[in-house]
Amino acid sequence: MERKHLEIDLNALRHNYRVMADLAGPETKIISVVKADAYGHGLIPVSRTLVDCGAHALGIFRPNDAIAIRQAGLDVPIIALSGIFPWEAQAAAEHNLSVVIYTMDMAQSLSQANREMGKVGDVLIKVDTGMGRLGVFPRDLPAFLDALAPLKGIRVTGIASHLAASELPEDPHTAGQVEAFAQSSLSMIHDNLGNSGAILEGLAKGYPMARPGIALYGSAPDPNMKGAALLKPVMAFKTRIIFVKDLPAGSPVSYGMTYVTPGPSRIATIPVGYADGYFRRLSNKGVAIVHGKRVPVVGTVCMNLTMLDVTGLEGVESGDEVVLLGNQGDQRVTGDELAASAGTISYELYCSLGRANPRHYME
Ligand SMILES: *Cc1c(COP(=O)(O)O)cnc(C)c1O
Repeated sequence: MERKHLEIDLNALRHNYRVMADLAGPETKIISVVKADAYGHGLIPVSRTLVDCGAHALGIFRPNDAIAIRQAGLDVPIIALSGIFPWEAQAAAEHNLSVVIYTMDMAQSLSQANREMGKVGDVLIKVDTGMGRLGVFPRDLPAFLDALAPLKGIRVTGIASHLAASELPEDPHTAGQVEAFAQSSLSMIHDNLGNSGAILEGLAKGYPMARPGIALYGSAPDPNMKGAALLKPVMAFKTRIIFVKDLPAGSPVSYGMTYVTPGPSRIATIPVGYADGYFRRLSNKGVAIVHGKRVPVVGTVCMNLTMLDVTGLEGVESGDEVVLLGNQGDQRVTGDELAASAGTISYELYCSLGRANPRHYME
């Protein structure tokens, strides 16, 4: 038995895929975003499940992920969402990776690598409509297309852009981006704008593809967004109590004495800390579930240990299950709640826990 583990609910993943596919509409194909080890949920098991659900393509960040997906025997279209370095072009060509490009260096390296293999690779062009991160500006798109035209070995299949604030659909900046994208659109098979937020807010409609990420894993970019309640959490994080003790009033708990017991207290220690992806910012802020009741994190989260106040819970002893994320009985700690307590977003929480813990897949 492990001291701590993640449970990944593949049925919830399937459910979320169907929700997003329905919201995107029948004309819009789904690029399932599986970058960052599928947001900490495990690249290969998640990719396999999504392909099984009918995902039309997988969205990745590093070409190495495409290699892993191909080695797992999946021959679904894969799109590198954020470009490549020239030295990665050969792997891209070899593994039939479609690449979102925005520099001539990327185009030329892909052209050469594909020609050497007697192939033609798909490229999409990233247009910066206001994210300020990657891409060619809309005004430079015609010249970029002209420069690409003579290159053999690559075929332009569409444009892509990214919204800076899909959770603010009414914001003029979002409206401006949606408008700039519409004007830049090449009306090609791979044109795509929408991330999870855009799909939830109906901004991705009318384009042939959309790119949900976080929603597949059960969270919305903003928990108050339309449609957020339709999603089911996929990741749970569980451990067991390693020690229980009773402390009198006035006893400090953990580094820095940031918590002092207000009265006689029963304190449970769990073998999870910031090295396990459980943010130190959760010191005196996190919540866990023990014996079906929510209990607070007290004191500073240590590298591999954290304390919980279980005062008043009958019969708590070492070995008892603790749910740090997910549900037990009728209580639940969501990724959104825990992330907010740590001053971050669910995306970072899932990546952080996913990097540091073994995963069990549940059907
Ligand atoms: C991560 C990412 C997405 C997915 O965004 P979510 O908010 O997780 O839905 C879509 N497109 C690009 C380019 C990305 O980098």
